[in-house]
Amino acid sequence: MAKVLCVLYPDPVTGYPPVYARDSIPALGDYPDGQTQPSPSAIDFTPGQLLGSVSGELGLRGFLEAQGHELIVTSDKDGPDSEFERELPDADVVISQPFWPAYLSAERIAKARKLKLALTAGIGSDHVDLDAAVKAGITVAEVTYSNSISVAEHAVMQILTLVRNLLPSHHWAATGGWNIADSVERAYDLEGMDVGVIAAGRIGQAVLRRLAPFGVRLHYFDTHRLPTELEEQLGLTYHPDARSLAGSVDVVSIHAPLHPQTHHLFDAELIGSMRRGSYIVNTARAEIVVRDAVVEALESGRLAGYAGDVWYPQPPAANHPWRTMPHEAMTPHVSGTTLSAQARYAAGTREILEDFLAGRAIREVYLIVDGGALAGTGARSYTADGSASPGSGQTG
Ligand code: NDP
Repeated sequence: MAKVLCVLYPDPVTGYPPVYARDSIPALGDYPDGQTQPSPSAIDFTPGQLLGSVSGELGLRGFLEAQGHELIVTSDKDGPDSEFERELPDADVVISQPFWPAYLSAERIAKARKLKLALTAGIGSDHVDLDAAVKAGITVAEVTYSNSISVAEHAVMQILTLVRNLLPSHHWAATGGWNIADSVERAYDLEGMDVGVIAAGRIGQAVLRRLAPFGVRLHYFDTHRLPTELEEQLGLTYHPDARSLAGSVDVVSIHAPLHPQTHHLFDAELIGSMRRGSYIVNTARAEIVVRDAVVEALESGRLAGYAGDVWYPQPPAANHPWRTMPHEAMTPHVSGTTLSAQARYAAGTREILEDFLAGRAIREVYLIVDGGALAGTGARSYTADGSASPGSGQTG
């Protein structure tokens, strides 16, 4: 019987369950590329419920305990005295969400002598030291596509939030003012701007498709070029590297995985090469940018705005400079954990667990590491040969 150690974010401060704003979420068909939705044998939750916090348990308890497995759910994840570290040495499976990541560093993996599966309930497994997982023969899997569209919607929202100067305007409305000039002194139309994405994978492509009707000129950089028909359909300009893209656009939205090739890609030099008054939106991973370079560029006016929902570490300290830097529109890491997304990744988590516990193959598209090597989606998106994810590096 397996011990499943699941790290989830804390319940709402107003209590669990919340009062839901809506009675249901839409039923969706296949994903845009034809990949089918998660297909567990059953689910023990109602789609639209809060599943990603501790009491939601990703809807897994009934299924696991009925088969005699042990499920431990905690939000206490950091430091040597945390429940996560105490329970880790004899856990067979660790489940974690990127929004509240249980960092599986090489040191922790060395202590987790029984660990066979590190499962990301969501997308992005950089909180796992993938090199260490490769060496230890641990399978790493995530629920590919489960929240890609959720993130794309958030990125488009944050682009508009910055360019239209939404948050300062909202501030005046909410505090009794009618300060039109104060609201619009930094407000522009997106129409006519050059907008680019770093990485045109599932999220990046969805952002491009959603932005096309805004009458913008679209650009992208990716390690693989998109099909010519798609470039023509969306009017895309391809750039061979990030520098070429960064210097050619007014808005950059980052959608690459975090790995050595993207770690600190947006440093002071690259940001300094951007047009004055550019905007950066980063819903990928915080360590793709250099934290203090962003702050300095906002203060100097090189950047007109920065938004995103990814930080390092997570949760960030109360005095993290991104909380108070000028012209930011930050959110906590929420874009991929809407109630809509949770239904999909909870179902996908159960699908992966069902296969793993029954000794069946996990869907290839869900695999990041398997059999001592990068595999599936991981083989395409991450870097192999001893230079896989740093397991979230030391600086943010
Ligand atoms: P995909 O795997 O569909 O896309 C990733 C894309 O990144 C691929 O097209 C890949 O290229 C490209 N890529 C990889 N390395 C580089 C590089 N060095 N330079 C440029 N492009 C590169 O993943 P998703 O679009 O679904 O997700 C992307 C990332 O977004 C995740 O890894 C995760 O970090 C983040 N994310 C954030 C969430 C949130 O809640 N904020 C939720 C979900 C994901 P190719 O395959 O062509 O080689």
